[in-house]
Amino acid sequence: MLSPSRLGDLCDALEKHYGQQEPSWPADPYLFLVWWHCGYPASDSACAKGWESLQREIGVGPDQLLKANPAKLALALKPGGMVPELRAMRLKEIAERIEKEFGGDLLEGLKGLPIARVRAALKKFPNIADPGADRILLFGGISPVAAVPSNCPHVLVRMRIGQEHENYGVTYKEAQRMIAEDVPAKFDVRIRAYLLLKCHGQRVCKLKNPKCSECPVSASCAFFGGNTRGRAAIS
Ligand code: SF4
Repeated sequence: MLSPSRLGDLCDALEKHYGQQEPSWPADPYLFLVWWHCGYPASDSACAKGWESLQREIGVGPDQLLKANPAKLALALKPGGMVPELRAMRLKEIAERIEKEFGGDLLEGLKGLPIARVRAALKKFPNIADPGADRILLFGGISPVAAVPSNCPHVLVRMRIGQEHENYGVTYKEAQRMIAEDVPAKFDVRIRAYLLLKCHGQRVCKLKNPKCSECPVSASCAFFGGNTRGRAAIS
């Protein structure tokens, strides 16, 4: 049986089951912001569809987005899902800030700033809160923060200590603390943990109706062992 107190063991077991994971989004902070607005509701598959269409029809550089006709930009984003007109407007806002505030290069413009200022700058972009900022910091190679997949912070919490909290922010912070305490602050290991937890949360340990009977780590899962922390079990 795995030691539930060692996140490295859990990651080994998840990787053995799902295989090695690779990010499906761009690592560069600016390109990630564009990719993130290519789909709505934002998901890997929706963003990938919009991204592919945007690259083909318009391009993804700040100058290309700024020059693009708004209607054509919205049309290019349509394969990514809902509200393409709003997402087109957001992309123009992002491109304008990149040009005016960062000299056309976000990563370069953030270099040398204290992490708190980098985080604050990232959170000024539309639809970027702490989980998005953490993701950019980690995958963009800016700081090896303890980022948690924004759509499944419950995964690690369930495995380690039982049912997640009702409040998303509390669960996110709890998962973040577990990663910070147990995974060395190195880009490769924290990216690996992020990707495996995300994969497990999307395929098996879903927010509603987790497929515990198919779970490769159920033997060392606190939630599976009956710890619902005073809440009714998920039905
Ligand atoms: S046993 Fe169930 S709750 Fe625990 S990690 Fe697996 S799917 Fe999630």
